[in-house]
Amino acid sequence: AAKSSGRDRVHLFSPGLREAARWRLEVATRLRGDAIDQLVVHYQPVVRLDTGAVEGVEALVRWQHPERGLLPPDSFLSVAEETGQVIPITRWLLRETTRKAAEWAAQGLPLRMSVNVSARHFSAETLVRDVRVALRDSGLPPDQLVLELTETSVAEDPTRAEDQLTVLRSFGVRVAIDDFGTGWSSLAQLFSLPIGTLKIDRSLLNAAERAVAGETGAVLTAIVELTRTLGIRSVAEGVETPEHLRMVREAGCDLAQGWLLGQPMPAEEIPRFVRSVQAA
Ligand code: C2E
Ligand code: CA
Ligand code: CA
Ligand code: CA
Repeated sequence: AAKSSGRDRVHLFSPGLREAARWRLEVATRLRGDAIDQLVVHYQPVVRLDTGAVEGVEALVRWQHPERGLLPPDSFLSVAEETGQVIPITRWLLRETTRKAAEWAAQGLPLRMSVNVSARHFSAETLVRDVRVALRDSGLPPDQLVLELTETSVAEDPTRAEDQLTVLRSFGVRVAIDDFGTGWSSLAQLFSLPIGTLKIDRSLLNAAERAVAGETGAVLTAIVELTRTLGIRSVAEGVETPEHLRMVREAGCDLAQGWLLGQPMPAEEIPRFVRSVQAA
């Protein structure tokens, strides 16, 4: 079975318990070895809602497993997070994606690059250095890099999170809060952090869709108004249908991402995709 249709076909993977234990062991062992060479990055367009242009892309990791095919991040990142392998994986991703963005910029396609950073890496000492090295080696302008952090990874230790974010911001790197609406962090605490972007989880879009007429999108609209007031940009995630697109436009979101606007795709396909959208 395929998780999604189109180019980004990743295999569903739902093992039983014994299978699961074996899988964890396999992931832990293989990711320590040569499996890091089997990781591939797909890029999903992030679209401006005012002009329809592609402003940037989000890097999403997959594992091209020799026997099982293209595996989604959920099937191996939680193990990698536990074993700590997620740190070298993200270090590699930062290098790979900043290099890719610099390459596209040199071809006349400046795209902002968003990279997911796990809680484990965010609380580690090496993140700041890893980001600095990737920027230096790629030559990518720092404001073209966006680090995506979840609500929960900043809520764990808000004081340390603030320090860490302040250092990253001092390089000129942008920070986005990912999956907003899935955690229960304090809004006051969240918005006191130096963040530039809020990514609204698709569960909120689905909730808005189910809401009765008249209330449709009220929560979405309220969140977007709040971000406006605070000078934070908003991204709607999971825009799958024209109805979703209408709702997020109406709510006033700045940017959107979703299958309707562009699937995650291999790097080679990005330049053609971006140009075809610009031409449309
Ligand atoms: P995320 O950061 O929220 O990424 C968005 C996920 O939603 C992606 O799943 C993407 O393929 C999927 N998606 C995009 N458009 C739609 C849509 O219209 N509808 C629906 N239903 N889904 C859509 P993916 O690639 O399977 O990634 C899942 C999660 O794994 C990501 O969620 C992120 O938390 C994590 N992840 C992915 N790549 C990385 C990475 O490089 N590093 C880390 N630390 N985490 C990653
Ligand atoms: Ca993300
Ligand atoms: Ca998200
Ligand atoms: Ca998510």
